[in-house]
Amino acid sequence: MSEFDYGLFVIGAGSGGVRAARIAAAHGARVAVAEEHRVGGTCVIRGCVPKKLLVYGAHFAEDLDDAAMFGWDVPEKRFDWPVLRDNVLAEVSRLEGLYGQTLGNHHVEIIKERAAVAGPNQLRLAGGRAVTARKILIAVGARPALPNIDGIEHAITSNEVFHLDRMPKRVVIAGGGYIANEFAGIFHQFGAHVTLVNRSDTMLRGYDEQIVDRLVKISLAKGLDIRFNAGFDRIEKNEDGSLTCVMKGCDAIHADEVLFAIGRQPNTEGLGLAEAGVALGENGAVIVDDDYRTNVPSIFAVGDVTNRVQLTPVAIREGQAFADSQFGNKPTRVDYRCIPSAVFSHPPIASVGLTEGQARNRLGSAKTFTSDFRAMKNVLAGRNERSLYKLVVDEGTDEVVGLHMIGPDAPEILQAAAVAVKARLKKADFDATVALHPSMAEELVLMR
Ligand code: FAD
Repeated sequence: MSEFDYGLFVIGAGSGGVRAARIAAAHGARVAVAEEHRVGGTCVIRGCVPKKLLVYGAHFAEDLDDAAMFGWDVPEKRFDWPVLRDNVLAEVSRLEGLYGQTLGNHHVEIIKERAAVAGPNQLRLAGGRAVTARKILIAVGARPALPNIDGIEHAITSNEVFHLDRMPKRVVIAGGGYIANEFAGIFHQFGAHVTLVNRSDTMLRGYDEQIVDRLVKISLAKGLDIRFNAGFDRIEKNEDGSLTCVMKGCDAIHADEVLFAIGRQPNTEGLGLAEAGVALGENGAVIVDDDYRTNVPSIFAVGDVTNRVQLTPVAIREGQAFADSQFGNKPTRVDYRCIPSAVFSHPPIASVGLTEGQARNRLGSAKTFTSDFRAMKNVLAGRNERSLYKLVVDEGTDEVVGLHMIGPDAPEILQAAAVAVKARLKKADFDATVALHPSMAEELVLMR
């Protein structure tokens, strides 16, 4: 008999926790995972998956308009939000079931309760039960941050946005990150008037400036209202149920919904970590070393709660590396170089490697190659929306150190091209590759 109830106790059945639990169990550990909300975590339940399905739904707005130039006679289009919402929520429930099944197939015990740490090897469940584990993995993710302003209770976050009773006519979105920009595109395509409020004059920090500028230009041309250098003083609820945002830096804005997407905060409040002696960093993030170990040797953390790279594939890789290293006798670390990422805006952005600015700072000098073009489909549709692809090249070695794109299907194209950037291929290798014609992606090998 082991001295502990479990070899591994995972708190949080999200992207990182599910992978770590499943792999540790496959390596022979006795594993339990506690989940206070729904198995699958943010990505499956209220993040990437339902968001991407809304992005697909939103795209029909323009596709149906464009269809006429391709000979289709489409009767007047009408969007029914409850139909899409309910279909998306049903798909989320299906996936939740699959995640539960996968854990069950690997003999991982799922405990549908909140858990907290009570010591280096002790945990306490919300129902009052105390359990012990040889190792504890904190995979509790993050939650939307909210400002401390009057009337904030009238605002929603990405947690509530998938459940709206009706499609609002006017939406104010606070934030300049990828979630804010994605929902700006989604609501706009569904016919809402969108005002995006950004507290500084830059959006999508970390993405290439030229690409971000293109998104701003296209968004403004589509009719989105963007307020830079503006902040919220308070939100007032009016008698008719509508909201008034009293602003700092611009006039008041009237809305039917106000969505805050201003960042995500690690979920460490009330988790017992500080009491157990686990060091926390800025914003309550769990501090870990290269092997995901905290300063308490039996306690580890992966994913958003470490507040490093808040993306699902990263949380999954960290969970896998942790389980292989600690339970599979296969020491593994995640390589954080060249992580591709996307903004599923309208049109989408995708990026890997260094931006032009980062390359100049780090390498001293960098060469850039751009292709600024109108996708063939947009030309025939009469849609005046230009794509922009940009290669950033190390002048000394000819290595492609960054690739940045905005345009239809940019994330789909970039995932494949990211292999070349990660493999440190040279600009000459891109040039030597014959174009696949006619495609948008061929621009990648035609930039001179
Ligand atoms: P999570 O998936 O958040 O899982 C943590 C789990 O822990 C949750 O289920 C939570 O309920 C549970 N939990 C918390 N505290 C406790 C406790 N004390 N006891 C028990 N359970 C607890 N990433 C991408 O890569 N691509 C995207 O397109 C993308 N889109 C996104 C869109 C939105 C709107 C949001 C909000 C996020 C998006 N993300 C995207 C980010 C992605 O969802 C996260 O990076 C990922 O889910 C992190 O995984 P995790 O395992 O760290 O945490």
